[in-house]
Amino acid sequence: MKAAALTNLLDLQPDVKARQGECVPVLLPVALDQTYDYLAPPEGVPPPGSFVLVPFGPQSRIGIVWDEPRGTPAKPIDPAKLKAVTGTLDAPPLPVLSLRFAEWIAGYTLAPLGMVVRMMMSAREVFEPQKPRFGVTIVEGAAMPPRMTPARQRVLDIASDGLIRAKSSLAQEAACTTGVVDGLITAGCLVEAAIPQKRCPIPEPHHRTIELSEDQERAVMALRAAVDGGTFAVTLLDGVTGSGKTEVYYEAVARALERGRQVLIMLPEIALTSQFMGRFQDRFGCPPVEWHSALSGPERGRIWRGVATGEARVVVGARSALFLPYTDLGLIVVDEEHDGGFKQDDRVHYQARDMAVVRASLGRFSVVLASATPSIESHVNARTGRYNHVVLPGRFSGTELPEIEAIDLRREPPEKGRWLAPPLVEGITETLARGQQSLLFLNRRGYAPLTLCQKCGHRFECPQCTAWLVEHRFRKKLNCHHCGFSLPIPEKCPSCGEADKLTACGPGVERVAEEVAERFPEARIELLSSDLIPGLTEMRRVIERIERHEADIIIGTQLVAKGHHFPDLNLVGIVDGDLGLAQGADPRAGERTFQLLHQVTGRAGRAFARGRGLIQTHLPDHPVMAAIIHGDREAFLEREIAQRQAGLLPPYGRLAALIVSSRDKQAAEMIARDIAHRAPPAEQIRILGPTEAPIAIIRGRHRWRLLAKARRDIDIQNYLRAWLSRMPPIKGDVRLSVDIDPYSFL
Ligand code: ADP
Ligand code: ZN
Repeated sequence: MKAAALTNLLDLQPDVKARQGECVPVLLPVALDQTYDYLAPPEGVPPPGSFVLVPFGPQSRIGIVWDEPRGTPAKPIDPAKLKAVTGTLDAPPLPVLSLRFAEWIAGYTLAPLGMVVRMMMSAREVFEPQKPRFGVTIVEGAAMPPRMTPARQRVLDIASDGLIRAKSSLAQEAACTTGVVDGLITAGCLVEAAIPQKRCPIPEPHHRTIELSEDQERAVMALRAAVDGGTFAVTLLDGVTGSGKTEVYYEAVARALERGRQVLIMLPEIALTSQFMGRFQDRFGCPPVEWHSALSGPERGRIWRGVATGEARVVVGARSALFLPYTDLGLIVVDEEHDGGFKQDDRVHYQARDMAVVRASLGRFSVVLASATPSIESHVNARTGRYNHVVLPGRFSGTELPEIEAIDLRREPPEKGRWLAPPLVEGITETLARGQQSLLFLNRRGYAPLTLCQKCGHRFECPQCTAWLVEHRFRKKLNCHHCGFSLPIPEKCPSCGEADKLTACGPGVERVAEEVAERFPEARIELLSSDLIPGLTEMRRVIERIERHEADIIIGTQLVAKGHHFPDLNLVGIVDGDLGLAQGADPRAGERTFQLLHQVTGRAGRAFARGRGLIQTHLPDHPVMAAIIHGDREAFLEREIAQRQAGLLPPYGRLAALIVSSRDKQAAEMIARDIAHRAPPAEQIRILGPTEAPIAIIRGRHRWRLLAKARRDIDIQNYLRAWLSRMPPIKGDVRLSVDIDPYSFL
């Protein structure tokens, strides 16, 4: 706004003039770490957390009113030149606690505050004017349309229940075009009507109660006491698969509800199945409010508002649910707390489990971390007494944990060109004969990880990444799993021109499925892989089919490892047990392999009979493998914890990765070396690298990594801030990203 126009406006409104100079610090959801001052709108300074419209550069943008200015502007701005807030949006303000939480995350992850706040604004519809949505409904007692068609009849049959539906969903349900629906409106059989706003259901703490076992009762008492304590506390709920962890933490949820508090249950995205929602409904009489990537825009808006107004009582969601504007959060449960999916690895690099603990400490309430295979970090915290440790030692059904055996591939390999060794085939045959289900696990999507020409040795590589192209036979494509590049499967070798010489090397799940179909033609097979199942909804259908025992043999990637309960599943076969162990630089490779294999084999025999797990491996004596086979978690933990301690690895030490990338190979290397040179000397901090990243190129960008390593009591963030402030501004297309507590070392 021009200064002259502003003066005129102030002259007209004397009470506004009185507040002249009143500044509002506004934070914008962009990659900046500071607030900008604006002149308050005529109605006064909006409360902190309010969403306002402000001019920013040539644009008008939505920003958040902060309670205090943050960061230092490059030069002080002449108050006469301040621009004014142009509007206050009708969205509920962010609670002040959300502002503190955002600051905490920005400080810890070194991400710009604006980018953290952006994650709190992930429901665009909230900021748009609310308009009623229209749908159609049947006109009671209307005459039949003059011309009846099968499509019209289907529409009328569906609409006969009197509900108001969106035109498009009615048409979809009736498998016709919206034109058919329009025709029925013209004919007077249907009429347009406003769709009423859906309300969030209210869970009932005592809808159904169950009789708890003694162990469960003890665990419940501990969790209830933590909720009642009304202070910050972390409890590790550590129980074998099927021990009733979910039932137990539901009691804590019920307690928080009784006390009138909101609850957040966080799950890995993939575990957000209808099975989980169904169980919640059984227990609390209504489904929870769900928050995940598959929600539509209007649903996101509705839920965001519901959380802000307090109408939403229990939210079940993926990691992003942590950033909703809870007004009175009183409990967070992080289920499958060990899961790597809680770490976000783009833009703001954060570990949602750890941030849940931070959120609880800011809000002074209780957090429950549940897992059958807790992370080493949580174990150590439980051992040192920082976390309460609540253990559920046995399965509720009384069935023992599955019996695990190794199949030593050095002694009993599969036949040439096959991937299932004889003992595994035998196991599946027996299981099938007993009418039970088998599950084969291979953490590799597609048909084969590598295609090569037998004549000239040409290997198909991604043109933009350091990676082989993976064959996806169902989709008839060669695909890069890093950038999405894809190519139709060629008939001839592009290098030597020879036809019919291209061979697939190694197995992916599709290839295992092919072998299973050949070996067991009578069996019903279900293949679970994220690239074959388009979304959460379809995924839920597949899981339901498996639960209903409409499949005999299930083949899957890690999608099958998470939280599902398949009552008739008795045998689990791990096609390649060694797959995760090879990742040399990754300090969590052993832990992750242990967790994954334990979780997958834990799907076997949960309800009735003792299950079996068969692990194909070349390394049956590897300590991780041996611990899995003997069900000796303590041995694994002892060794792993000792190693972490000796190597000053998390949680005994702190790690931070710096990743430099550029389209220009030399530029990336040069900047990485320059960064290393400028590291402030510090006795307590070691800088490793720079080295070329194991995946040296992704999407055409060359990548170099540095790793900073420090003892736990060192403030590594401070060190990094000092270090990076010594850097001149990075020019060109070179990018630097900081990853505190990295989980990926690729
Ligand atoms: P976890 O989360 O530890 O894997 P769940 O809570 O899923 O275990 O429990 C495993 C199965 O046992 C579920 O089908 C659950 O309903 C049942 N279950 C657990 N505890 C009880 C109980 N006290 N009474 C009845 N069923 C129970
Ligand atoms: Zn690629």
